[in-house]
Parts: sequence; structure tokens; C-alpha cells
Amino acid sequence: MSFKAVVIEKTDDVQGVGIKQFAIDDLMEGDTVVRISHSSLNYKDGLAITGASPVVRRFPMVPGIDFVGIVESTSAEGLNAGDAVLLNGWGTGERHLGGWAQKSRVPGKWLTPLPAGFTPEQAMAVGTAGYTAALCVLALQDGGVTPDSGEIVVSGAAGGVGSVAVSLLASLGYSVVASTGRAEEEGYLKKLGASRVIPRDELAAAPRPLEKELWAGAVDSVGSTTLANILAKTKYGGTVACCGLAAGMDLPTSVAPFILRGITLRGIDSVMAPPELRARAWELLDRTLDRSVLGEMTSVVSLEQAVEAAGDILKGKVRGRMVVKIED
Ligand code: NDP
Repeated sequence: MSFKAVVIEKTDDVQGVGIKQFAIDDLMEGDTVVRISHSSLNYKDGLAITGASPVVRRFPMVPGIDFVGIVESTSAEGLNAGDAVLLNGWGTGERHLGGWAQKSRVPGKWLTPLPAGFTPEQAMAVGTAGYTAALCVLALQDGGVTPDSGEIVVSGAAGGVGSVAVSLLASLGYSVVASTGRAEEEGYLKKLGASRVIPRDELAAAPRPLEKELWAGAVDSVGSTTLANILAKTKYGGTVACCGLAAGMDLPTSVAPFILRGITLRGIDSVMAPPELRARAWELLDRTLDRSVLGEMTSVVSLEQAVEAAGDILKGKVRGRMVVKIED
């Protein structure tokens, strides 16, 4: 039996993307078949669909680094047909066929039970970007950064990771400084809980090794000079969670913030994070994330619209989170 999927193909170095009927026999190895109801648009999906960066490791590929759905059949221990599950990462949409399809076959150990406090649509409004934001917040907490430590700066604040990070941190009582290139999103960011909004230009110039100490911690999804500036402005003993590269992969910094201010740079990877850490992140989200604020930052699109939006996310034009609804 066939089903609908977005398929990325490559012939003679030319990449094409279309919505096709995909055969169930073409699904990849796994002990569990999931009927998908929602996926989402993440930055990596933008890279995969446009081919802007070689994240796709086999063709044909179905994009979608996350999904939520119902187990259709399984031989995995602890799983049953009818279970509501979600998936983040593990190489889906890169090496393993992803979530922009009506079905997926995966190893059952990649699946997380859908937390009772989230509808399927809300779980994908969080998606991999939001779950990564939660991993960043856990890194700050584990680093001993508390609401009393001082302000936390969030870069790329109007994007997916940034929006969820602002909201989560504000709900936990932190004072959040949101850095954005979109001045028109100041009202939006304050609604999410930011106490102050600063223009991204303040973090764009080449920094000196150390600048005035401003922030107790940071969630950075931008990288490059922005991250270098954040490190130079972080207070003594602070923690900076680094998860993204929206401005570039480079990091033009020095050892000064580390050896003179004892700052910790915590790398965040959502793809291969162990199940216990995933469970902590989803528990934090379930307990803390304001569902009406989550609704404010979310738009819901069809598979067709999601393909069209893939280029926009790379240009920083998508606000908050985009859920991809998989129609029957
Ligand atoms: P979005 O595109 O939604 O957000 C990125 C934001 O960064 C934009 O909205 C924009 O925010 C800002 N931005 C974009 N371009 C630039 C630029 N040239 N200079 C400065 N700021 C810029 O993407 P996501 O939030 O989904 O992902 C953000 C990053 O995090 C990506 O690099 C992604 O690959 C990474 N990521 C990493 C994960 C991991 O496991 N480590 C998991 C998930 C995401 P604004 O307009 O507010 O300035």
C-alpha cells in the first residue's frame, strides 16, 4: 500500500522535491510503523529541502526531523499498537526517512511517549526546536544559573529555538533579554515573556576578548560573531548554551572568557541525546510551557505550504514555530 510523502531526489547532482506516493516497502529498517499526524518545519529541514547544506545522506529522502503519531504495528519491547508517540532527531530527515509523510518505520527505541499534557499539534509546535530550547534551559540549570544570578540573553529570539527558550525561561522566573534582527517582533517577544528586547546588531561587531559583564547565561542558536560577543559579555562563572549556527559555523573568540571569568560553554545536541535527557526535557516542557503562549508562536501549514516555507526559515523569515499537519 502506498502513502503520501514529500520526497527529495537527486539525479546528476540536481536536487528536486515533490509530493509523491511512496511505497510502504520503501520504508527503512525498524521494528515499529507509525501513522504520522503532524511534523514540523525545523532549520535542518530547510537545509535538506533547499540543498543549501549537505545534511541529506541518502536519496530519495523524506524530510522531517520530528513527528508525532500513533503506533500502527510494532514488535518493540514496551510499545503497543495504538500508543501515541513522538520522535525527535536520531538522523530522521538526514539518514533515515523522516516525518513529512503519512507513515514512518523506525526502531521503537527512538520513540518517546507523547506527554499527556500535549495534544499532537502542541507537541509538534514544540518540535525539535522547542525540545532543543529545553535542553539549553536544562544546561543553564545544571550549570547553577538561577533566576537570581542575573539576566539571560537569548539570540535568534524570534526563531523557533529562541521563541520557546524565551517563554520557558520567563515561566521559570528568569529575566530574559531577547536579541532579534526583527525590530517589528518586539511586541511578540514581550508577549512570550522577554523583559527587554535588543537589536541583533549589538552582538554583531567583532568583540574584544572581554567586554562589560552583562548576562548570567545565554541560549544561542546563532553562532559565529554573535556567540563570540555573548561569551565576552557573560558574567563571571556564567553558562552559555550553544545549539545553532543561523549566522555561521565559525566562532571568532579567544580563551579569555574561559580562563579569566570561568565561563562554561555548553554544547547542545538534540539528535543523539540519550533517552533520559530527552525525558527530562519533555518533562520540563510539559510542566512549564504556557500552552496559550505556545499557541501565539505557532502556525499550522500543509505539506505543500511547508515545502514552500523551507527557504524562508533559512532566511530567518519564519516567526516562532511551524507545525506541518499531515492530512489523511
Ligand atoms: P529559525 O530560523 O526559526 O531561527 C533562527 C533565528 O536566528 C532567526 O529567526 C533569526 O532570529 C536569527 N538569525 C537568522 N539568521 C541570522 C543571522 N545571519 N545573524 C543573526 N541572527 C540570525 O531556526 P531554529 O530556531 O529552528 O534553529 C536555530 C538554529 O538552531 C539553527 O542553526 C538550527 O540548525 C539549530 N538547531 C540545533 C539543534 C541541535 O540539536 N543543536 C536542534 C534544533 C535547531 P531573529 O529574527 O529574532 O534575529
